[in-house]
Amino acid sequence: MTKRVYNFYPGPATLPLPVLEKARDEFLDFMGTGISVVEISHRTKEWQSVMDDATNLVHEMMKLPTEYKILWLMGGASTQFYMVPANISVKGKPMEYVDTGTWSTNAIKEAKLYGDVKVVASSKEDNFSFIPKDIRFSEDAAYAHITGNNTIYGTEYHEWPKVPEDVPLVVDMSSNLMDRVIDNTQFGVIYAGAQKNLGPAGVTLVAVREDLLKRIPENIPTMMKWTTHVQKGSMFNTPSVFAIYISKLSLEYLKETGGVPAMEKKNREKAKLLYDTIDNSNGFYKGHARKDSRSLMNVTFTMPSPELEDKCVEEALKRNLVGLKGHRSVGGMRASLYNAMSLDGVKELTKFLTEFREEHQ
Ligand code: PMP
Repeated sequence: MTKRVYNFYPGPATLPLPVLEKARDEFLDFMGTGISVVEISHRTKEWQSVMDDATNLVHEMMKLPTEYKILWLMGGASTQFYMVPANISVKGKPMEYVDTGTWSTNAIKEAKLYGDVKVVASSKEDNFSFIPKDIRFSEDAAYAHITGNNTIYGTEYHEWPKVPEDVPLVVDMSSNLMDRVIDNTQFGVIYAGAQKNLGPAGVTLVAVREDLLKRIPENIPTMMKWTTHVQKGSMFNTPSVFAIYISKLSLEYLKETGGVPAMEKKNREKAKLLYDTIDNSNGFYKGHARKDSRSLMNVTFTMPSPELEDKCVEEALKRNLVGLKGHRSVGGMRASLYNAMSLDGVKELTKFLTEFREEHQ
């Protein structure tokens, strides 16, 4: 038997086992070509069918109409931090951002290279433990930018901010893509590194509303223009074939298992189990995020001492519960409960945490 553990790493992260098994089974001979998917030319009809299926499944799962163009790009979400302003900033208009943690801060830094940036709300004063309320963007903003889920701090938008009519809302959905049913058409641009809720590292999903493509200036490098990739079906240059292929398999699996509505139900159940364990621990486990901002995907908590935290991570390993050490900005522990994490995995984790508390409180 191959060893498998419960993998709570924040990304690259766990993927559904049936997806990995399918990839293994067809690894040497892709669609009867006698070629592995990692050897295949992206100009073959077999590869084209993967691109088409993956793109159609994104439309279907996210309920995005055809006016949204789906791109499969490289360079990670971090590349979109500068591609967003490079493509849709407007001379003389501010780019408005909400700062809810490291990834928002990084996006803000890049946007400043392109013009005037206004941070309209921030939760920095309380170590990014909450999502600001009553966020207001101005009517003359070029666009409004938010980070949907803050992977490091464990906070997530429960309500999406409203934007003035002609201001497109741009969202970094790297760590909460398809985690629950939302109206994705409220966004002008959605981008997400694949390596949490979609597939392996190496591809970034971008969905851009067609009307925004008109803004893209001529005088930026070819690879930086979203239009280049729209016109060439994300194959202006060689695409990240393996990462797109696995993403396609994981989208098929999502569809077979009930799509985003079924995923939301499972995600809420998993998160409730773990947050209840934290809340019912008489203060032994202390959640970092405020209750009204808690993430379904990344659960962050601390313990009475760093020594106990280290011990907890170590003991968890012995129970095949892996990747629980928190990010240094928050300390403590972080359990990432992405779509592919099973309910059984979270049950094992909560059972372990309860026993650990009983032993050490
Ligand atoms: N945004 C968020 C919310 C993230 O969690 C991450 C990575 N952890 C990034 C952006 C950066 O992504 P990448 O490594 O793909 O550039």
